[in-house]
Amino acid sequence: MAIREIVTHPNSILRRKARKVEKFDQEIQNLIEDMIETMRAEPGVGLAAPQVAVPLRLIVVEYGEEENADIPPKLYVMANPEIIRSSQETELGVEGCLSIPGFVGEVERSAEIVVRGQNRYGKPMKVKAKGWLARIFQHEIDHLNGVLFIDRTDKVWKLEEEKDTAQVTVVD
Ligand code: ZN
Repeated sequence: MAIREIVTHPNSILRRKARKVEKFDQEIQNLIEDMIETMRAEPGVGLAAPQVAVPLRLIVVEYGEEENADIPPKLYVMANPEIIRSSQETELGVEGCLSIPGFVGEVERSAEIVVRGQNRYGKPMKVKAKGWLARIFQHEIDHLNGVLFIDRTDKVWKLEEEKDTAQVTVVD
């Protein structure tokens, strides 16, 4: 396992549409382990393969609800994720990105989504997510399509200028 270098904006790797994961071989298992380690080292709550310069439709998400501090955060590994349902209801939230260090923005996201994809061994899986978990999935899936949070908002600011940093949660 190894911590991989995170590609930062405006690197064109972040703007490409990632390819479908077809083979769930040892190489992909190694990539998944590296992505988990890299996400935890930063730390972040999500990471998409293009952020470590691998143009594949693969994401890792690890997030724990704050109310349940006793319960360890749940780790999701998903290949070829697809949002199959999203709520009309949206929420505004302040998010950041490991690929855009030092900046955050206020982004409107669906409050609830259903994501379908494959687990690390290629088996079908489905995740129902709301609130921050839904936001993280939407942010990571955007990365697979070359979309960054700064494309979705005009309200972007430098983290240092944010007075109440306690309110800010960096997505990945
Ligand atoms: Zn990001």
